[in-house]
Amino acid sequence: MSGKKRVSYYYDGDVGNYYYGQGHPMKPHRIRMTHNLLLNYGLYRKMEVYRPEVATLEEMTKFHSDDYMLFLKNIRPDNMTDYTKQMQRFNVGEDCPVFDGLFEFCQISSGGSIAAAMKLNHQESDIAINWMGGLHHAKKSEASGFCYSNDIVLAILELLKHHQRVLYVDIDIHHGDGVEEAFYTTDRVMTCSFHKYGEYFPGTGDLRDIGADKGKYYALNFPLRDGIDDETYEKIFAPVMERVVSTFQPNAIVLQCGADSLTGDRLGCFNLTLKGHGRCVEFMKKFNLPLLMLGGGGYTIRNVARCWTYETAVALDTQIANELPYNDYFEYYGPDFKLHINPSNMTNQNTREYLDKIQIRLYENLRHMQAPGVQMQPLVCDTFDRDPSRAKDNADPDQRLPDAVKDAMIEHEGEYYDGEDEGDDRRNQQSFKRPADGSLSPSLEQADAKKPKTNDEVLEEPPVVAPNPEDGAAAAFLEEQNQSGQDEEMDTAPVEGVESTEAAA
Ligand SMILES: [Zn+2]
Repeated sequence: MSGKKRVSYYYDGDVGNYYYGQGHPMKPHRIRMTHNLLLNYGLYRKMEVYRPEVATLEEMTKFHSDDYMLFLKNIRPDNMTDYTKQMQRFNVGEDCPVFDGLFEFCQISSGGSIAAAMKLNHQESDIAINWMGGLHHAKKSEASGFCYSNDIVLAILELLKHHQRVLYVDIDIHHGDGVEEAFYTTDRVMTCSFHKYGEYFPGTGDLRDIGADKGKYYALNFPLRDGIDDETYEKIFAPVMERVVSTFQPNAIVLQCGADSLTGDRLGCFNLTLKGHGRCVEFMKKFNLPLLMLGGGGYTIRNVARCWTYETAVALDTQIANELPYNDYFEYYGPDFKLHINPSNMTNQNTREYLDKIQIRLYENLRHMQAPGVQMQPLVCDTFDRDPSRAKDNADPDQRLPDAVKDAMIEHEGEYYDGEDEGDDRRNQQSFKRPADGSLSPSLEQADAKKPKTNDEVLEEPPVVAPNPEDGAAAAFLEEQNQSGQDEEMDTAPVEGVESTEAAA
């Protein structure tokens, strides 16, 4: 029914060279491994492969504050001592360390997502993929959870130039807090996050956090417990997303495919296989809406590469063999050298009863929500639109392969020391602990999960509504643009207040 899609894929051969530091669980190298694996599966022949232009400072400050971005631009490992105060203020130093090329890394990640969004805006692709993006924890003026610049918010702002309503779906094991916060007070972006909740980073994502002001009911959070498996995940994901899409009627979808929700993740505690994770991609794809697929977390890097390669194949409607093709990182995939992974025998703490209760509450909220028929004012001018064709690799993909494979050869020495197998690396996780402010760093989730909340506690505790001055930071941007921008008509036709079938039910 859905048929083959036109897929664009964004990758920068430099991304794998950035290095957070020895022992740090976030390894940009995993994106190079993904790229190399999907090349060797031949998937590049079925999609357009781009090396995107990096995001400019101007583009990044469409969401982030100027002083935060200038700080990221100027800070280096060799001048850190001059910036101690700002490092504290912007939460840079521990979980989010200063490393060589930090700002370029942000520019590459964000540049890919912005370029991908533009491609969808111009209707030149049905699906656009950027595994370098998905860094959902970054805030307007603060780094968080290994994320510095929020490529997702920037991409959604780009999509909003041409699409009235954008749906954001987050299947990373962590709450998609940065994106939720940015759009908390607007009804033009609905954010939906499925995540582990209770004694877990970042600590937000309560069932009762549903958005505020105009954005009330346009944030959805599904808090989960340890050990969720493929079957259980699909049973909640599919009906909830079905209802969200039919009610909200998005014009475009952004799917954050964080791979730390996979079984055996170094920082995660879910029990999904590639098939269960990939089912979410299949499911969101079948709505036949412009789809932006992004990366995110994922700390057992051999499985991250497996997952995003598989999901690239899902986007392409292509079957790929379970036997891994030979590739530059073949030895990482031993001892079986297969694509697919098996679930563990861990207990699934998400009982049917617990999930049903949550689902009922979410459905109640969805009854209050409808597709907003905002008056279609001209939004943002496309003045900083880049010419997407400029970024295209003009060489024939088959010719490109040797180079593309070659750029995988420069590898940080440290990757060999703290490859992800590495039980001994856990001791280093202590160094990522934040000062005792009650919040857990992603690297400490397991170590510090002393007293998980009971299911009842999750349901009954009063909601933690911490007023946050940054809530709706991107929404404010939209308001401003609504008042001032007059240069460009939106592509989408006005949609009058759509009657929701659920509202009547
Ligand atoms: Zn995560």
